[in-house]
Amino acid sequence: MTSVRRIAYITGTRADFGLMLSTLLSIAGEPGLALDVIATGMHLFPDYGNTIDEVRASGLNIAGIVPIEAGPPSGGLMARNVGRMLTGITEQLEASRPDVVLVLGDRGEMLAAATAALHLNIPVAHVHGGELSGTIDEPIRHAISKLSHLHFAATAGSRERLIRMGENPDNIHITGAPGLDGLVELASTDRSALFSASGLDETRPTAVLLYHPVVQETAIGAKTIGWMLDALEQSQLQVLALKPNSDAGGQEIGDVLDRRASSAGGPVVMKHVPRADFVSFVRHADVLIGNSSSGIIEAASFGTPVVNVGTRQNMRDRNDNVIDTPGASKAQIGEALNLALRQGRWPSVNIYGDGKAGQRIVGLLRDVDLHTLGAKVNAY
Ligand code: UDP
Repeated sequence: MTSVRRIAYITGTRADFGLMLSTLLSIAGEPGLALDVIATGMHLFPDYGNTIDEVRASGLNIAGIVPIEAGPPSGGLMARNVGRMLTGITEQLEASRPDVVLVLGDRGEMLAAATAALHLNIPVAHVHGGELSGTIDEPIRHAISKLSHLHFAATAGSRERLIRMGENPDNIHITGAPGLDGLVELASTDRSALFSASGLDETRPTAVLLYHPVVQETAIGAKTIGWMLDALEQSQLQVLALKPNSDAGGQEIGDVLDRRASSAGGPVVMKHVPRADFVSFVRHADVLIGNSSSGIIEAASFGTPVVNVGTRQNMRDRNDNVIDTPGASKAQIGEALNLALRQGRWPSVNIYGDGKAGQRIVGLLRDVDLHTLGAKVNAY
């Protein structure tokens, strides 16, 4: 009798869950693999759209929910919650003893999960390692890579960086970004229905705005989003703005959005829209502005121009549709916005993958000989 390999995936936000959903469904459907989902973080709070409902609606097996402390986002709250997640995830993993813990990206939830798994002698597989960015995501991502035994990198550049970090080349696989699997098909919500349901005018040029705080720069977040809204207004774009994530500084940015939403001609502000609708908005928008990973990874698949503001996505591999601006003034942001609008749409080419990442990840999780992974050591 062949045994089933149990994979535990940790999800902390809509961002990781949406990117991984098609891959997770494939894991759950693969003979020889079984999937447990452990949910925590932003998923659990109404302020961030109660996205635990989307996890439940997926039909995937939720093996456990790890509660965290609520409160206005701050560095202290984030750090304390890494501690809570470390305790809660450890208890979940001790109970379920999966064969592999699967994590994605660069957030505290994933750092907690990888730390727990390492201590319990459970191999960790990490998606999207080896990338570069700003904010505390950058060191946290690399720390997770150093705790991980198997790497599912999105690009050849990421693989190179992981090798330079001392990871064993045999365990680094270029899978592409799972968020691109089925992305164009997913973005098929009818434009008219989408716009009218959100109170937007489908005949007007439209921007999607998604701007998160940078943890080391919380003092400038409110000012910068104000400049972005001014520049968008000057360019006569109607704006769909999404609230930022739970990182320190998020509250101040959200407050500006709420204030501006109530003024005439202000943005339509939402906490969260389901991913199919969000990516449909990105597909139909004239520009995506802010610092979301969706501007770096997803927008290129639709050829949508992106204005990337500030340091959050610093040095990350880019497609040609991204225009960077430091965002140090309204004029600077306006210039980048005008350039993006002048250049218009791009061909749909995306360096982050070919839509087959999930397939590769499932194959590797099924077939890799876990005994060959060994203890973590630097390769040099
Ligand atoms: N996203 C979503 N609904 C939204 C906003 C974003 O499903 O209302 C998805 C988006 O398609 C992308 C991911 O969430 O896959 C990016 O999330 P976000 O900008 O919140 O986080 P980041 O990855 O930049 O930390």
